[in-house]
Amino acid sequence: MPTIQKADSRQQVLLGLGANVGDRWANLRRAIQDLAARREITVLTRSSVYESEPAGYADQPRFLNLVVGVETVLAPEELLAATLEIERGLGRVRSFANAPRTLDIDILFFGNRSVNTERLQVPHPHFAERPFVVVPMDEVLRHPAFQGPLWDPLRATLKTDLPRSGVWLWEEQE
Ligand code: AMP
Repeated sequence: MPTIQKADSRQQVLLGLGANVGDRWANLRRAIQDLAARREITVLTRSSVYESEPAGYADQPRFLNLVVGVETVLAPEELLAATLEIERGLGRVRSFANAPRTLDIDILFFGNRSVNTERLQVPHPHFAERPFVVVPMDEVLRHPAFQGPLWDPLRATLKTDLPRSGVWLWEEQE
């Protein structure tokens, strides 16, 4: 009998986190803890924290943003359900597009998979035009866990002339 090799169902995923309401850094830290607390998710690395101008609706406080690199056995829709639950756990109430938020989690990349459903678009359609994603994502892709051919195309994209202004490295406080 030939051995059937089961495809590795673990996928590396890049998540973009942002918060601009309440104790922004506490919200982000809590979100990372909540991700790590799930059996199906392993947090591999995260970027530094960046402060950024709000996108879209400008009359609101600045955001803190970072990108987290995780590994998961969840399917994309299951991961979305988990991230929405974590957002809700932090008291996020959905009001209008680009409104202030205690926590926003975007699935930026899910391995090399594409998803295009009503509920989920991956790769995230706006990542390349958002400096608060591009800058921390670049940092995560330098981590040893993200070396190798899977992430080379994205690394090449990040070498092109994407916008990087309007974000500042933020000094983490205890
Ligand atoms: P918002 O948090 O306001 O940016 O919108 C969140 C909604 O966008 C979620 O309820 C998802 O159904 C949808 N969505 C579509 N693509 C993505 C993605 N790649 N990551 C997170 N949410 C997504």
